Amino acid sequence: MTAATRLAAVIGSPVAHSLSPAIHNAAFAALGLPWTYLAFEVAPGRVAQAVRGMRALAGFDGMSVTAPHKLAAANEVDGLSPDAMALGVVNTVVRQPDGRLRGESTDGPGLLASLVDSGFDPVGRRCVVIGAGGAARAITRSLARSGAAEVMVVNRTRENAIRTCAFAGAVGRVGEPQDVVNAELVVNATPLGMIGGDDDRLVLDPAHLREGQLVVDLVYDPPLTPFLQAARDRGATAVNGLGMLVHQAALQFSLWTGEDAPLGAMWAAVGRK
Ligand code: NAP
Repeated sequence: MTAATRLAAVIGSPVAHSLSPAIHNAAFAALGLPWTYLAFEVAPGRVAQAVRGMRALAGFDGMSVTAPHKLAAANEVDGLSPDAMALGVVNTVVRQPDGRLRGESTDGPGLLASLVDSGFDPVGRRCVVIGAGGAARAITRSLARSGAAEVMVVNRTRENAIRTCAFAGAVGRVGEPQDVVNAELVVNATPLGMIGGDDDRLVLDPAHLREGQLVVDLVYDPPLTPFLQAARDRGATAVNGLGMLVHQAALQFSLWTGEDAPLGAMWAAVGRK
């Protein structure tokens, strides 16, 4: 590192478990770029200070934003991409040539790119998103915009499902667990199944899963969640959230550096391919 090294960093709370430093540093190294990537714990309520710090520190040119700060960060940047504007959240901050900070949201496009890896094209397909939080909103919007015939949101709190399915416009609707059997894509966008989580129930009765479905769990720790194991036992294709993580990072990388992301190095950093 030299005085010319540029910095990118993730802010979140907690952030110590984040795989983003490994993924991004592998990518910078693979292309020989003079960048480094760190993780900063930022307490809730201090996001404005964190973004002000980035603004003042020339060379701190890229920021990833993870839970619980995505909403707060959207209020601190100078401009928003159309996706970030529609969703009201930011997972990426990019310093533009004029110094202004632009907020982007790469979660939805990241999920779409991971579906391509699984050979799944959403056009004309029936999709279910379980959960109605920030990730669910991003995914619901992206699936609808990429041509899904239906995006159904299934969630324990119905009011949140109503709000989230609105992000799919005309193809969005609120669903019940028993509707899942008709879907071709099922995405778990809740934290259920995560190592260290406080609820070890399955997010859905596996009786609603079947052969021919692609089941994606946004959780990737453990790599095979109980929900994915149940999906596999029912004959469905089961995929964890590492693909979305790597692809949303690849999009961030390109936004910051202007370069195509070295996906092979990024996958290797999380132990795959
Ligand atoms: P969030 O905004 O907190 O939303 C969580 C959603 O899960 C809410 O709809 C909530 O339901 C539901 N939920 C929480 N606990 C539940 C339980 N015990 N039973 C049933 N439903 C429950 O979280 P988020 O930011 O959307 O993230 C969701 C998950 O996706 C997290 O595990 C996160 O780590 C993961 N994620 C992964 C990636 C990736 O790249 N792989 C990217 C983003 C997020 P209510 O509406 O009823 O509260």
